[in-house]
Amino acid sequence: MPQLDAVVRDIAEEMSRRDDRGEVATYIPQLAHVDPGQFGLAVAAADGSIACAGHSDTPFSIQSISKVFTLTLALGVAGDQLWKRVGREPSGNAFNSIVQLELEQGVPRNPFINAGALAVTDVILSGHPPREALGEILRFIRFAAQDDSIHIDEHVARSEKATGFRNVALANFMKSFGVLQNPVDYVLGTYFHHCAIAMSCRQLALAGRFLAHSGRNPDTNCSMISPERARRINALMLTCGHYDGSGEFAYRVGLPGKSGVGGGILAVAPSHASIAVWAPGLDPTGNSHLGRIALEKLARKMKWSIFGE
Ligand code: GLU
Repeated sequence: MPQLDAVVRDIAEEMSRRDDRGEVATYIPQLAHVDPGQFGLAVAAADGSIACAGHSDTPFSIQSISKVFTLTLALGVAGDQLWKRVGREPSGNAFNSIVQLELEQGVPRNPFINAGALAVTDVILSGHPPREALGEILRFIRFAAQDDSIHIDEHVARSEKATGFRNVALANFMKSFGVLQNPVDYVLGTYFHHCAIAMSCRQLALAGRFLAHSGRNPDTNCSMISPERARRINALMLTCGHYDGSGEFAYRVGLPGKSGVGGGILAVAPSHASIAVWAPGLDPTGNSHLGRIALEKLARKMKWSIFGE
């Protein structure tokens, strides 16, 4: 097996030289300022080591990657009852699409499209004021990463709140079907803020370890969720984690993964590693262009695809 450190270094070096970098998201004005020339990669391996290269310590906006952690928390709150509020099928539509919602009575296809994540946030809110729910989300991510410095980028949260008209529409539409139980403003405020959490690749790779190791943090040996739940979250990441680019990601990379419009991807190589990559330029499906290419190379070189060598 090739040396992980060397593989990670080589990939970061190759990615930093490429000209095809995709386009940074501009619909959230604060994200439009991010330099697309950056690239970071961090791999937290099963033996406790972490291989990092490039801008792996630069915090970026995790955006929809936060939905993996909110889904984990909501399953803790509601268990399988969650699946009455949100489905488990790939949508085949863009991350912020509204069309399916009307046909399916306001029940979103899966927890990773925006509508589904709003339903998940609503479940976490039940019985709590938004500030407490947000505190719980942040505490969970800090605990998973074993890092209390992880924070919310208030500029990004405000920027999204000022321009998130489509999310406002989705939330109101779902409310009209009775799918949201809390006030729409609470759900949106909490959602915008958890999407605005800033993390580096190193922090994100550390936070994802419980998904790679059957729900346990291999460093502390602390069990965060059951093996069955970890397996199911991985299944959803594989089938729905890249919106209408999920099939292509499974085909090319072969790992469960969740992307965000900040250009990050959290990928899981079960029993091997938790991987975070960041390259801010996106492809037309809203997924990190070089991030996907880097993961494809990493999975191939390390023989980590869940579908075989
Ligand atoms: N906060 C973003 C939105 O709601 C998340 C989208 C993404 O990262 O894919 O549009």
